Amino acid sequence: MKIGIPRAMLYFKNGKFWTTLFDELKIEYILSPETNKEIIDRGSKLAIDEACLPEKVMLGHVEWLIGKCDYIFIPRIEYCEGYEMCTRFLSLPDLIVNTFREKSPKILFYNITKNSRKGEYKAIKKMCKFLGIKRRKAKEAYIVAKQTQGYFEMFRAENQENLLSSSHKNKVLIVAHAYNIGDKYIGGNVLRILKELDCDAIIAEYANAQKCINLSKSVAKTLPWTYNKHLVGAIELYKDRVDGIILLTTFPCGTDSMVNEMVVRKYKDIPIVVLTLDSQDGSAGIETRLESFVDIMNFKKGEM
Ligand code: SF4
Repeated sequence: MKIGIPRAMLYFKNGKFWTTLFDELKIEYILSPETNKEIIDRGSKLAIDEACLPEKVMLGHVEWLIGKCDYIFIPRIEYCEGYEMCTRFLSLPDLIVNTFREKSPKILFYNITKNSRKGEYKAIKKMCKFLGIKRRKAKEAYIVAKQTQGYFEMFRAENQENLLSSSHKNKVLIVAHAYNIGDKYIGGNVLRILKELDCDAIIAEYANAQKCINLSKSVAKTLPWTYNKHLVGAIELYKDRVDGIILLTTFPCGTDSMVNEMVVRKYKDIPIVVLTLDSQDGSAGIETRLESFVDIMNFKKGEM
């Protein structure tokens, strides 16, 4: 049996966890390639107009995988870290099944829903049972996979702390969902341009999730979405150690459109720019906006 993992959306959050899990279970898997123009174009053609860019990217990756594996891995994650997710993650397996109904790909998923008191482990155990894997083997694989993901995140956060304390360049906090900043085809241009402008990028998403979610409560108690809580908490965590903030979002993201507005109103003492990307974007417009943004940061620091 071969599982196909789309290199899109939650892969950029849980990639280490998922690939280690399948390695430990001795299940073969195939990853779709890094996003490219063809994948985005195909995904955009398959999607309805209201789909957000990460969903279009996902559809392109799934299409690439169809015919190359036995199951396509699309978990349904409604809740995470005790808070709700954007509803697009809840509907994702259904979106895939409906979009590709003529090709009828088989979907492998685990469910983390609000009402089932099932945590992640129980959901994985159920998926493993479906795959014919014994309970003990599933538990061992789950523990190793969680530890691997945990070490990876800890190492990344520590590296970022080191960069924050050692860098003398302009430090720019990039506030973006993992699948926007992690996917080179989407967020890569911003990272490249910042480097060319001699800035260090600090990635909000790399900060410890639980710590940030707790911090986010001091900014907005009622903010519902887990990942936005994480990102807002990261702004609180880093705001005094960075020179500017980029709110990097993709079109049309419902959660970001509300949260970005709140962030811009709340943090008035630090330069902030909102960059909204869609599937048509080249880098010229972004380059000009980032150059102006760096000028503003330098002006604020009294360096112009
Ligand atoms: S949070 Fe925004 S970008 Fe992410 S899946 Fe939801 S609508 Fe799309």
